Amino acid sequence: MRRKIFLAGNWKMNHGPKAAAEFMAACRASWEAKLSPQTRSRVDDGSVQLALFTPDVSLTSAREAVQPLPIRIGAQNVHWEKSGAFTGEISIPMCEELGIRSALAGHSERRQYFGETDETVRKRTLALVEAGFTVFLCVGETLQEREAGRTEEVLRAQLSAIFQDKNTQLSQALIAEEGRLIIAYEPVWAIGTGKTATPEIAQAAHSQIRQFLGSLLGPTAGPQAAIVYGGSVTPANFKGLLDQPDIDGGLVGGASLKPESWLELVEIAGKSITG
Ligand code: PEP
Repeated sequence: MRRKIFLAGNWKMNHGPKAAAEFMAACRASWEAKLSPQTRSRVDDGSVQLALFTPDVSLTSAREAVQPLPIRIGAQNVHWEKSGAFTGEISIPMCEELGIRSALAGHSERRQYFGETDETVRKRTLALVEAGFTVFLCVGETLQEREAGRTEEVLRAQLSAIFQDKNTQLSQALIAEEGRLIIAYEPVWAIGTGKTATPEIAQAAHSQIRQFLGSLLGPTAGPQAAIVYGGSVTPANFKGLLDQPDIDGGLVGGASLKPESWLELVEIAGKSITG
């Protein structure tokens, strides 16, 4: 029997409140027509878990309009402090007030353009996990790093910075509670570029990540971690990626922006659960 599949969309700086409500209305309207009964039941029983990470201004509109579909709405970037002088940031209590309990952490665009470091990613992730949020923690190498043969080293460094201590809540959330802390392997060279990692390249990196987690946190950590792939995932390449033994789903940017392609991805996820 296949593990659970996690499928999340990252809208980045797209879809304000009106567009978010329209997207959800379109999903609701085509839910039954576009998704097979098998997929709908996989989503209902939680074997396919869905989330959409919207701009902060669209969180409420998306959350209201998505009802009753079982798609979590989450934030793209949340600060570790509860309040204070952190212009441009939002806090966990603010999300909770909106009924939001999921978030991304460490997306490469935050690392690349906004000075996010492994240390700030660790702080954000830890605060979110402590507050009981579902977190997609993003890691991945740049093209330069890959071409220099440094992929393993970079992934190991990013993961060890986060999981420094096997006794922290972070490590426990990763190992013990399926679906609370999900690792998104997102090679930076594949994000928004149309260059997907081949299933073999993605599989090799996922397998390495499981090995690193095993060596950092103990033998059960590798097999139990939920690890999804991100980087130019589309309905045309998603199945090939999901066929790989160590890929537990996808984090999708561009192809999550249109209801049609998003629902196609959901259908592919539903069909990939066997047994
Ligand atoms: C992302 O934003 O995390 C992402 C993978 O984007 P895209 O699918 O557009 O490459």
